[in-house]
Amino acid sequence: MTPTTPKAVVVGAGIIGTWHALEMIDAGFAVDHLDADPAPVGASVRNFGLVWVSGRRSGSELEVARRARDRWEEIGARVPGVGFRPAGSLTVATTPSERFVMQEFSRCPNATERSIVFLDPDEVRRCNPAIRGEVTGALFCGLDAVVEPRHAPQALREHLATEASRRYRFHPGSRVTDTAPGAVLDASGGRWEGDVVIVATGAAYDHLPAALPLASRLRRVRLQMFETDPYPGQLTTALADADSLRYYPAYEPAPRHELGEQNEIGSLHHLQLLLVQRPDGGLTIGDTHAYDEPFDFALSEAPTTELVSRATRILGGELPPVRRRWDGVYAECRDGAVCLREQIDERVWLVTGPGGRGMTCSPAIARDTLDAAGVA
Ligand SMILES: Cc1cc2nc3c(=O)[nH]c(=O)nc-3n(C[C@H](O)[C@H](O)[C@H](O)COP(=O)(O)OP(=O)(O)OC[C@H]3O[C@@H](n4cnc5c(N)ncnc54)[C@H](O)[C@@H]3O)c2cc1C
Repeated sequence: MTPTTPKAVVVGAGIIGTWHALEMIDAGFAVDHLDADPAPVGASVRNFGLVWVSGRRSGSELEVARRARDRWEEIGARVPGVGFRPAGSLTVATTPSERFVMQEFSRCPNATERSIVFLDPDEVRRCNPAIRGEVTGALFCGLDAVVEPRHAPQALREHLATEASRRYRFHPGSRVTDTAPGAVLDASGGRWEGDVVIVATGAAYDHLPAALPLASRLRRVRLQMFETDPYPGQLTTALADADSLRYYPAYEPAPRHELGEQNEIGSLHHLQLLLVQRPDGGLTIGDTHAYDEPFDFALSEAPTTELVSRATRILGGELPPVRRRWDGVYAECRDGAVCLREQIDERVWLVTGPGGRGMTCSPAIARDTLDAAGVA
């Protein structure tokens, strides 16, 4: 490090802040990386770890997701703790009408653009032999991948501390309370200055005075999830069920009305089945979506029961006991943008609001911030 080394401050050690720190280091900056907590406990460590390209909206969102997925693969090869696996995904049909909708979708340009193909039940079982239940077909997407959310942010920080030991410093327990031109101030009176300052505080997007005017462009969404003890079979892909077709923009050209009404519990909790096997065999399963604040502080049982029953039906075997449950809150842009990226003070950028695609898109979001800030 020399006296002319440019300096960056990154606030937030979730996945968005961490990828910004990484890109800044790659661009030659010295980085002070701050988080309010002793270690991040926000959305970035509570998610599935799905690098989910398949569901993304055509156009810039899909382009960002594909670019990000490539970057995840690249860093996964250098930092094994990230846990990158090019597992692909199966979106599984269990009824004739779900099969019909998926088959029709597989003929659309949106499917070709994402290398999504329709598989018959025998092909589904060959693709993922752990599926031994009632399936009528599935959509396979080989672009989808998985990382380990509980470990990835820390693995990336450790990588930075090793690779750029003189230019990277992590400062846990530093709660930022205000901004100034080219600086942020923390709760203990500290002032952190940089040529570029990134504020990536996730769902806490309205805690800094300078960010308040932007709050109306964002909203918070609460999700519930759980994880089982190790499952005896080995799942070769991530799984989704047909309810996921209702939510992801990629499936807009599909004849989704043929799916009929969602069942009561599904529509009450805006529920879909997503399932990822962890390296120790446990199954991370979710999820629900709540949009109205204040959110309930309690976890509810009914969605867990519903999701266990859906997973059991597809896998064709009983699930092991649930070993932990949790919820998580992310910020998303109300206008559907990939993220909100705005200068809130001189040389200070707020980057948040990636919604349910933040883990997927974080590498490309960070790269694009460097371009926007003119430092790439
Ligand atoms: C249950 C769940 C499942 C999901 N599944 C997926 C998935 O499989 N794939 C996918 O692509 N996306 C998924 N998402 C979305 C994804 O997790 C988020 O978009 C992403 O993690 C947001 O990252 P972030 O860094 O902006 O926020 P966070 O992870 O919340 O990080 C923000 C950080 O800022 C810190 N902070 C806040 N305020 C301050 C302050 N004043 N001073 C200093 N530090 C501060 C916090 O301590 C925190 O560590 C999921 C989200 C949830 C909740």
